[in-house]
Amino acid sequence: MDLVSYADLVVELVNTHDPAEDALHDLDSLRALLTPRPHLLGRLTYRDLEAMRQLRQELRGIVEAAVAGEDDRAAEGLNAMLIRHPVHPALSDHDGHPWHLHLTEDGSVPDRYAAGAAMGLAVLIGERGIGALGLCTSRECRNIFFHTGSDRSQRYCSDRCGKRDGGQ
Ligand SMILES: [Zn+2]
Repeated sequence: MDLVSYADLVVELVNTHDPAEDALHDLDSLRALLTPRPHLLGRLTYRDLEAMRQLRQELRGIVEAAVAGEDDRAAEGLNAMLIRHPVHPALSDHDGHPWHLHLTEDGSVPDRYAAGAAMGLAVLIGERGIGALGLCTSRECRNIFFHTGSDRSQRYCSDRCGKRDGGQ
């Protein structure tokens, strides 16, 4: 698995919070978030839900700091998270794939999620620069996204948001 792809954990979690609807409000919605990643699924409690909501807030803070040009604050926040949630690299050849590097996480579901998300975001910033982090500029949306390539002109998280704002 490409280590940068772990950064998708950040987008998937942070974007569960829409101003109009919080898609992370009970254990079923938490399970829905984790379903595409069976290795992160485990026994879930309300304490896990609360921890995931706090993690969501913390990750959003890091991305918003980066987008606001407060690079140091973003990096400090991320570094603190990496210390709290260490990962253990491990080679895997699961499901017939060639040997590739996985990040193995320990602890509760939120701990493991935080470890993968923080590592992925750190790798992504290291490879593409801190300017790769983006925040949708639509007033009705607070989604985050990652710029791909060197073009940093993207303003919306999706075509849907771009069209909606363009139509006003
Ligand atoms: Zn948007």
